[in-house]
Amino acid sequence: MKLEGGCYCGAVRYLAEGEPTLKAQCHCRECQYVTGGGPNYFMMMPTGGFRYTKGAPKAFTRSDLERPVTREFCAECGTHLVTRPPGMPLLVLKVGTLDDPTLFEGPQVAIYAVDKQPFHLVAEGLPTFERLPG
Ligand SMILES: [Zn+2]
Ligand SMILES: [Zn+2]
Repeated sequence: MKLEGGCYCGAVRYLAEGEPTLKAQCHCRECQYVTGGGPNYFMMMPTGGFRYTKGAPKAFTRSDLERPVTREFCAECGTHLVTRPPGMPLLVLKVGTLDDPTLFEGPQVAIYAVDKQPFHLVAEGLPTFERLPG
């Protein structure tokens, strides 16, 4: 796949090439902060196929966690674009930042149901995990 996208104001643009290794909706408490309260829809993409084509994001990593992720977002408009888990050749790409979000085609799994709110929706029959699959 060749996925193009960027932030709300257009200052930061990216190109993500490769096959998604996971398409999911995440209900964790952290994702609720960056989505507005709902689950976060994302695709895991290979880091090697990802690059910024315009502008550069600001990065944020919490200092009080043992294995914190790094979140990259537009410093102008605040749109959260990707998350980089430590020590993995994959990044978490937020579906809402794609030029064409229909390319997502929907999640394969729901994860971190442990933090799910009563008003969150999970499609009937979608495999759901308390935390991560496996
Ligand atoms: Zn922006
Ligand atoms: Zn999450």
